[in-house]
Amino acid sequence: MEDKKWVFSFDEVKLAEDYVGGSWEGVRALLGGKGSGLADMTRADVPVPPGFTVTTEACNAYQADGKFPAGMWEQELNALKIVEQKTGKKFGNTNNPLLVSCRSGAKFSMPGMMDTVLNIGLTDTTADGMVKLTNNPRFVYDSYRRLVEMFGTVVLGIPDEAFEDPLKEYKQKKGYKLDTEMTADDWKAITATFKAVVKKEQGFDFPQDPYIQLELATEAVFKSWNGKRAVDYRRATNIPDDLGTAVNIQTMVFGNMGEDSGTGVAFTRDPSTGERKMFGNYLINAQGEDVVAGIRNAEKIENLSSEMPAVYQQFMNITAKLEEHYTEMQDVEFTIERGKLWMLQTRNGKRTANSAVKIALDMVEEGLIDKKDAVLRVSPEQVDTLLHPQFTNDAMKAANGEGRWYAKGVNASPGAAVGQVYFDANTAESQAKQNKQDVIMVRPFTKPDDVHGMIAAKGVLTSEGGATSHAAVVARQFGIPCVVGASQIKIDLENRLMSVDGQIVKEGEWISVDGTTGEVYTGKILTFTPKIEEQTDLLKLLTWADEICATPGIRKFAPGWPTKGLQVWANADYPKDAQRARSYGAVGIGLCRTEHMFFEKERLPIVQRMILAENLEDRKAALDELLPYQRADFDGLFRAMDGYPVIIRLIDPPLHEFMPDEELLFEEVITMRVKGETKGLEEKEKLLADIRGMHESNPMMGLRGVRLSIYMPQIVEMQVRAIFEAAADCTLSGVVVKPEVMIPLTGTVNELKWIQPRLIKIAHDVMEEKKVSFTYKFGTMIEIPRAAVTAAEIAEYAEFFSFGTNDLTQMTFGYSRDDAERNFLVTYVAEGILPKNPFQTIDRGGVGRLMSMTVKDGRSTRPELEVGICGEHGGDPDSIEFCHLIGNNYVSCSPFRVPIARLAAAHAALKHSGAGLAEDK
Ligand code: PEP
Ligand code: MG
Repeated sequence: MEDKKWVFSFDEVKLAEDYVGGSWEGVRALLGGKGSGLADMTRADVPVPPGFTVTTEACNAYQADGKFPAGMWEQELNALKIVEQKTGKKFGNTNNPLLVSCRSGAKFSMPGMMDTVLNIGLTDTTADGMVKLTNNPRFVYDSYRRLVEMFGTVVLGIPDEAFEDPLKEYKQKKGYKLDTEMTADDWKAITATFKAVVKKEQGFDFPQDPYIQLELATEAVFKSWNGKRAVDYRRATNIPDDLGTAVNIQTMVFGNMGEDSGTGVAFTRDPSTGERKMFGNYLINAQGEDVVAGIRNAEKIENLSSEMPAVYQQFMNITAKLEEHYTEMQDVEFTIERGKLWMLQTRNGKRTANSAVKIALDMVEEGLIDKKDAVLRVSPEQVDTLLHPQFTNDAMKAANGEGRWYAKGVNASPGAAVGQVYFDANTAESQAKQNKQDVIMVRPFTKPDDVHGMIAAKGVLTSEGGATSHAAVVARQFGIPCVVGASQIKIDLENRLMSVDGQIVKEGEWISVDGTTGEVYTGKILTFTPKIEEQTDLLKLLTWADEICATPGIRKFAPGWPTKGLQVWANADYPKDAQRARSYGAVGIGLCRTEHMFFEKERLPIVQRMILAENLEDRKAALDELLPYQRADFDGLFRAMDGYPVIIRLIDPPLHEFMPDEELLFEEVITMRVKGETKGLEEKEKLLADIRGMHESNPMMGLRGVRLSIYMPQIVEMQVRAIFEAAADCTLSGVVVKPEVMIPLTGTVNELKWIQPRLIKIAHDVMEEKKVSFTYKFGTMIEIPRAAVTAAEIAEYAEFFSFGTNDLTQMTFGYSRDDAERNFLVTYVAEGILPKNPFQTIDRGGVGRLMSMTVKDGRSTRPELEVGICGEHGGDPDSIEFCHLIGNNYVSCSPFRVPIARLAAAHAALKHSGAGLAEDK
């Protein structure tokens, strides 16, 4: 262990590559995103202040043993010596002191979630030396007080207020508004106050040994990996807990050394629109955190061209080089120290969904990336946000007319959100989660501690900060509509209200925020979901995604479907849904729940009559009345899906769902009896008795699905006749039909053996009657574990399988979905008993194993077996990837999720290049 390398200087990137066996992914995992970026920039001769990285392996070793691994600290000291040589400065030296920063940096960026300590190395004596050296006592004591504060809060865990309150008081006493009004003596006094805070809170002095400062700061960064903010963020972004963070120790450069110094952050393209134009802010005579926190209003980056033309030109050249090198939009941090430009960080920039699509398309045009890269650059979740709601024009006009316009800020993250105002993250979170309210979280500005409230909220509004402030960056990442810097709004946290020119909005009242325009309204405004047809960039990207999935010849394990990826079908019950599904790019209907059609107003009485019929004749008469309705429904579906397969599921739910509510009816009967009303009483009493006769103690496991079809075959016989009559009529009028009849809830092959031949006979009869023929299929849903286990037998009858993962998950876990989601599931996920809600994302280890077995066994009987999924998981990217891996032919989801599924299917195809579990075996 002694020999293990725990520390890499920024110029040792080659050694790091060798250490991990050559892969850049490996270097990123070892040195973290920030560390590997700094090393990579150093290699490319970009001016980076010298420094070194303590590896994520060291962090993991620390987490395991609670102490630094053997040899790590010695390596840190050696690396520091090299930095001393490079800079000509010395750590702790009075005459020419070296100051360093100590920052976290995990493999994946977790903005602001972990800890940072700046200006390490400042002590009473080195501060004196710095004053002599720089002749700038104001800068030195500003830096020193920052160190004491950061060290106090981050390393020693003293609350922020312990420092912020005395500073606020001091400024008030002096009549200052801004930090810039503080003089050298003021900062010196504040430094002394802060040191006294440390002594009072901790009982010991702020350490005057810089090596102790460094050692404790390194440890604090390691510890912050398991801090609440970081853990919350990892849960929300699916970053694994065992990656660990690296620690970057880097020479401090100062943007607050006077008017020839400054600091800024910038994106190489506009992160909101994707426009190819540098986008960012800088501040003269300031330190980095001032810009990121958005506390001072920063200058636009383009103004630097007149303020410091040479530096600006150098900056533009470096960022262009970086973008070309990474072939990605970069988010950079820089500092200018006395006219010299230093790059402190580069990473792939976070962006809105809109800009992600535009940048991906532009970069293909520019020849930087190919179509596959472009498809991978946009996440399925981003596509989701593109289809997010917006305010309707009429409702906006009305709101304007009613004088409900309230304020305007910076449009930080697009989308419209309507919700009740809450002024802190904890209340926002609890109102959203426990009381199921739509919440808008309103804060002066946000900090990493607020992320849980932001994630729970529908929208975020701040009165301070700009487009690169914390609130803006986090909201964009999570696709939460967000307006920042609405400075007209005065927020009164104590009285829990906000106001603009005296117009007050109290906590709990409704507002509407438009993250696309930056506008804020009081009250609710109606929203609508944008039309995909108008989103030409997205449509182009999705066409590329489809091309990837349709590449022939790779998924050999799914014969008859020799394509690289999944198809995307949709669940649609009505022709208008089918039309929408097609316009969103679906190439089939994977589930039409026919019973929904039974609920329509004019049909329900006939359905009820059919159910209550006392003899076969009456039942058939009612079914004869229903047949034309059903035929017309299917006719519409086939026409909408001309040329594409349409899976129609035969009746599934228990019959009582079509009957009046038992309790209400009972109440009515009792009331009539009490009031002595006799007219109609007898019929009602009879109906009540009939409904009670149908009572089941667990109807979801009772008389439904194929069991009902066998018990009362006339219903499905009517449905099959309607399907085939409609298909025949459509064929005769030139429409290409591909009907697939789906039998739900099969548990044993004998059920299919009993029902299917009767239904096929009807299909043949109709085709003969109409003198027409077309291809069709009969198949079943796999929703019951027993069906999955006996898939080989079931495939003897079923020509296709469709996973009904809603029921399959219920029955595999033995959870009733509605009950589980209402209560214990939340606790299960929070406690880590289940990694995710299994009704949203397929439980690969349990339900998934049944599915993978089903595909394999089913195809052992019927090699060309068509397999799909129509449970709600069909629109979930993680579950789609799983369906790809087990060899599904298609996924079917709600029409609105079709674009998301198309992209997710392409991602799965690219990620697994066609090799699935089924093929591996
Ligand atoms: C399913 O169980 O996954 C399914 C699609 O059927 P339903 O949701 O209609 O029970
Ligand atoms: Mg079901």
